[in-house]
Amino acid sequence: VRWTEERGWHDGRLEPYGPFTLPPATSVFHYGQAVFEGMKAYRHDSGSIALFRPMANAERFNRSARRLAMPELPVDTFVRAVELLVTQDRDWVPPGDGNSLYLRPFMIATQPGLGFTHPSSSYLFCVIASPAAPYFGPSGPRALTVWLCDDYVRAAPGGTGDAKAAGNYAGAFLATRQATAQGCDQVVWLDAAEHRWVEEMGGMNLFFVYGGSRPRIVTPKLTGALLPGITRDSLLTLAGELGMAAEEDRMSTSRWQSDCASGALTETFACGTAAVISPVGTVRSTTGDWQIGDGQPGPVTHRLRTALLDIQYGRGPDPHHWVHKVC
Ligand code: PMP
Repeated sequence: VRWTEERGWHDGRLEPYGPFTLPPATSVFHYGQAVFEGMKAYRHDSGSIALFRPMANAERFNRSARRLAMPELPVDTFVRAVELLVTQDRDWVPPGDGNSLYLRPFMIATQPGLGFTHPSSSYLFCVIASPAAPYFGPSGPRALTVWLCDDYVRAAPGGTGDAKAAGNYAGAFLATRQATAQGCDQVVWLDAAEHRWVEEMGGMNLFFVYGGSRPRIVTPKLTGALLPGITRDSLLTLAGELGMAAEEDRMSTSRWQSDCASGALTETFACGTAAVISPVGTVRSTTGDWQIGDGQPGPVTHRLRTALLDIQYGRGPDPHHWVHKVC
């Protein structure tokens, strides 16, 4: 679907996957006006194919677009575009637990011109798709080792951290490379001002678990510098239904470490569309390592993961109407 100042959104169509032709002066190449979403279609045992909370993706997409001075897309146009692609070929959505069709809606600025005073006056919205196997392979999630990033920040207050802007990810590659060189799987981003408050991971939000007879799960508050994950939001709701307390609060790295040492904080996990829920076993920083619990995936992480997957794969009740059947 294309957008111009004169015509608004128009010319929606389905095309075979193939290259775009864009002039070298196209503004997205120079000024980075590009936003995207990540979502999945799941095949249920009944044979139906369903999306998970697609309206939430559409709304976040529009928040991202507003932040980058790009036009918003009507929510039903966004959802219909995704549905149209998914229903082209049901066999694109692979059967089996953990398998899905990953969907990538995105929008780029297409006006040629090197002027910087105004945002682009034309845009292109597209959806592409690719079958996805479970993030961690068939053996299920393993506990991650994560790197506390002290040299770089992902986002600052007033910046684009709570938008799904392509540039946020460009700025993250160097820290990710550093994490890999330290033997870590992921970067944990800290706040820009004090490098003290935990924000999120590369493509996932974080939860801290205080175990016991009534577990309590805590996730960093939305400060405007971290992405409001749809998985995060779903888990805050699900936790209550599973008899757990759920809170949004600040978490400092020193409290994370000391509460692990005292045994109060028993598990940590990351969550997002791609990896669902991934346990974190070890935290590494320039001052050394610490272990969370016994360093292995824990029971609360497992319960929440199962509850979420049961809804996404249509195996359990869906009291919040999160499952959006496509066909
Ligand atoms: N944070 C970042 C930076 C992300 O890219 C993602 C993935 N969209 C998330 C968190 C998790 O969001 P969601 O649960 O909506 O996939």
